[in-house]
Amino acid sequence: MSDGNDTIFGRILRGEIPSDRVHEDEHCIAFRDVAPQAPVHVLVIPRKHIPSLKEAQPEQEALLGHLLLVAAQIARQEGLEDWRTVINTGADAGQTVFHLHVHVIGGRPLAWPPG
Ligand code: 5GP
Repeated sequence: MSDGNDTIFGRILRGEIPSDRVHEDEHCIAFRDVAPQAPVHVLVIPRKHIPSLKEAQPEQEALLGHLLLVAAQIARQEGLEDWRTVINTGADAGQTVFHLHVHVIGGRPLAWPPG
């Protein structure tokens, strides 16, 4: 049954396609990226469908903060001392899946600035 979230992450949330989950709670889930860009590459996504940060609302402030705290918890759980959290917002910024997600990337030195 569709809940209107036709993105690939909507399908992952509904269990229609498998994912390697490393965390789940009432508000979000986290799973390993299918095409990891570093030894650790996890995506943290809200259960609620928010297409991107552009659509985030003031009443979602606590949820957005929760996603960042879960990202940090996962980084520590994965044994990372340093890591990068990334939220690509919009196609020109590299967003390809329009369900808000926080990348947690680490386990190797990371260059800056990104491309
Ligand atoms: P974006 O480019 O939107 O910031 O990030 C989307 C991420 O989702 C990419 O890093 C991509 O590898 C990942 N991804 C796309 N499809 C799937 C999938 O079916 N399963 C998993 N685990 N990751 C996916």
